Order: sequence, then C-alpha cells, then structure tokens
Amino acid sequence: MKYMKKSFTGMVPYHSKLITDGIILNANESPILPPQKVLDEIKTKITNIEFNRYPDMDEIELNKAIAKRYNVKPENISSGVGSDELLDVIFRATLEPNDIVLGFSPSFSMYKVFAELVGAKYIPVFGDENGIFNVSDMIKAIKEYNPKLVLICTPNNPTGQYFQEDEVRKIIESTDALIALDLAYIDFAIKDYYYLGIEYENVIAFKTFSKAMALPSIRVGYAISNKDNIDMIDAIKAPYSVSTISQIIATTAINNFDLYKGQIKMIVKERERLYKDLKALGFKVYPSEANFLYVLFDDKYNDALLKNKIYIRKFKSGVYRITVGSQYENERLMEVLKNETKSN
Ligand code: PMP
Repeated sequence: MKYMKKSFTGMVPYHSKLITDGIILNANESPILPPQKVLDEIKTKITNIEFNRYPDMDEIELNKAIAKRYNVKPENISSGVGSDELLDVIFRATLEPNDIVLGFSPSFSMYKVFAELVGAKYIPVFGDENGIFNVSDMIKAIKEYNPKLVLICTPNNPTGQYFQEDEVRKIIESTDALIALDLAYIDFAIKDYYYLGIEYENVIAFKTFSKAMALPSIRVGYAISNKDNIDMIDAIKAPYSVSTISQIIATTAINNFDLYKGQIKMIVKERERLYKDLKALGFKVYPSEANFLYVLFDDKYNDALLKNKIYIRKFKSGVYRITVGSQYENERLMEVLKNETKSN
C-alpha cells in the first residue's frame, strides 16, 4: 500500500469470504427472507423506478416511514448506507485527533477502526471475571478518561448482553460526552429504548435494516436523535449515498413492520432453545438478547462444524459466536456438536 499515509500503517483490507453453500451462522443474518407480502410489494415497486435519476438525497419517504414507526418527527431521522456509514460519520463529525473514545470490550469491531481512522484513542472497558459488563465500570472510566464519545452496544455484539433501560440512563446521565447507542439487535430484546435518542441531548440511537428486518443486502441503517444531532450527521454524510432501490425496499419493509413480528418471535424462541441445548452439552454460553450466542468451546467443535459445512464466527481459539438459524439449521448444528462430544 505504497501511497497509504504513515499513520495508517498496519491497516489491512477487511475481507470476509462470501459463503453460499452450507449452513451460514457467522454474520448475524436472518435465516429467512422478509415476509412474502413485503417481497411482493417490493417487486411491484421496483419496476417503476426511474433508474436514470439520482436518488432522493434527503431520503424523505424513507425517513417519514421510519419516523412514523417510532412516533417521532422525520427531522429526528437520518438514513445511511448501513448503520456503518452513520457510525463512521459520527466519529468523523465529533472527534479531533487524540480525543478519547470509550466502549465496552469485546464489542463491535468497527468502533475501534472508526476511531483509528480519525486518529482518536479507543479505550476498552472490560467485563468482570464472567465477561459481564458493569455500568459502574463504564461510569468510573468516563470519570477517569473524560471521553468525547462513548459507545454502548445493546444487546452487545458479540456477547449478547442487554442493558436494562435504567442502566443505560445511568451511563447517559453521568456525562456530557456524546453517547452512540447502537441498537442494531434490539428488536430481538425484551424492550427497545430508541426514544433515549430523542430524550437526551447527548444521545444518538442507531438502528439497522440488516438484522431483524432481514435486509442486509440493501445496506440501510438509520439514526434517531434530536434535530441538532441529525443535522450534524447530514452535514457530514456523503450526498446520495442511499440508493433509490434501497430507499424503496427499506420504506416498504418498515411500513410493514408488524408482519415481521412472527419471524422475530421464532428467532427469539430458537435462541432460547439453542442456549439451553448448548449449556446442556457443558459449554459456557453467555445470556443473549440478540440473534446470536457467544460460546466458549474447544476448537475441535468448530473443526467438526466446518467439516459439515456449518459456518460460525471464530474470534480466537476457543471463542465463538453462533448466529441463531432456522429450527432445521440449529438442529443440524446441535447434532454435529453432540456427535463430537460423544467421540471423546
Ligand atoms: N452495529 C453492530 C453492533 C453490528 O453488529 C453491525 C453489523 N454487524 C452494525 C452496527 C452495522 O450494521 P449495518 O451497517 O449492516 O447496518
């Protein structure tokens, strides 16, 4: 990377091989497509796109539809190319070189990357001996480091930990720093508290169409916050980033959110079953309110899964994240793991 500037030395391209064959439980995707009625409506709508025109750069229809679902104003919403784009924008919009960013660890790996891209310092706050994060540790770290930006991912990727609303409020109220509240997986949790993004001046909530809405292919995420924070995002975000086709698909999906409730319920039910089944085999499994489970087991189990074309996410030796699949996929996974325990 001959032309890369010195401060980026060590950065490597991020590649993840596209798997198309087998049981894919490595990327927190939905095991099923969006509801049929949503797909049918999308098919009709995309035939009428004026492909020769740029998209609506203000995403007016989409933001209106998102605002309607949450009973907020369209001025409280900004959409982007996945929540990735909007998170990146927040780092670029708020941080000077050497500013401090705090986040629990392990958490979504891109936070650290976004911090490095703007020359900020990402300081991790670790969990206790059981890997459980404590709000008091974060508040202590906030006092100690005086961060500009704090990342709270709830439920947390990859551990699945969900913070109760009052715990999140405690963190928010302990600081004037901006809190990026990443709610990518909260539709699988007991309660969504997106409204904290409106209620507090220092909070921006981030959500996505990639998980519960089963649409990672279209790359749409959104921020919910007060007008001032939304204006800040819109001032920095690249114009026309969200394509017309993505805007139409996302609008159709969110207008039909009620139709998703059945499939979200199915995934939550499967998560609970998988949690119990994995524990019964003697593995350490973290409680999760997301569509994945964080599991500690010997690497030989992953080898057995790979032999059977079942793909889960490996973080390091012995540390894995398993996306909740369909009933069939989860049963296949358990079958392979059970056989492997017997072969000892
Ligand atoms: N936040 C978290 C916690 C995630 O796990 C992900 C995707 N893996 C994202 C944000 C980004 O999602 P997207 O860009 O697809 O909206």
